[in-house]
Amino acid sequence: MKIYTLHSVADNGMSLSLRHFRRFLAHIRRTCGFVDPTALDRGGDAGGALITFDDCFADNFCNALPLLDEFEVKALFFFTPAYLGTVRWGSRTKGNWSDKPGGGYDLPFGFMGMAELQSLVAQGHQLGFHSRTHRNLTDCEPAEWVDEVETAKTEWQVRLGLRFDVFAYPRGRYSPEMFPVLEKAGYRCALSTRQGVADAQAFAAQRFCLPRYPVQRRGLFGWL
Ligand SMILES: [Zn+2]
Repeated sequence: MKIYTLHSVADNGMSLSLRHFRRFLAHIRRTCGFVDPTALDRGGDAGGALITFDDCFADNFCNALPLLDEFEVKALFFFTPAYLGTVRWGSRTKGNWSDKPGGGYDLPFGFMGMAELQSLVAQGHQLGFHSRTHRNLTDCEPAEWVDEVETAKTEWQVRLGLRFDVFAYPRGRYSPEMFPVLEKAGYRCALSTRQGVADAQAFAAQRFCLPRYPVQRRGLFGWL
């Protein structure tokens, strides 16, 4: 299968536009078709495309969800508790983020709250875990990995009444020393931002750093 990574979907000049998101979904439907997140249980033999969203932007709920429904797609959303119900600020010129507005960071991006997360699950989508704070795990001490990937996972499974079986590395940063930590924490697999097909070989050799393809505003179809 191919696993695609999306972030914000909005018509704001910085995110993936709704028009491009629709074109992307139409392309996938025309070519390989979709699989739902349970395909990860079946490994790389499952064909088709799995759609994943990192960070749980609020616009995923109001903008992306109606299109996912229209195309009958169930997606996997990666949740970071530190972002729950918060607002962060983007800069169109710098192309990155700030926790506070000002200095060119003038585009607000909200993140889903508990009600939206629970509604996603009620509608048949799945949540994966994306670390407690979204720090680069490669910058953390190994002792901190346990809090980021296991302690926080356990806490939030209780709060949300579900299980997180899949992990996505914040900003794709990982090292092989993290794999046993994730396995012990009970994850079935982990997704990176390395590009490639998540085929049977990848599931056999790289279950804790499976590749994905980014879906970006520019050059959207360059890699399809
Ligand atoms: Zn992220």
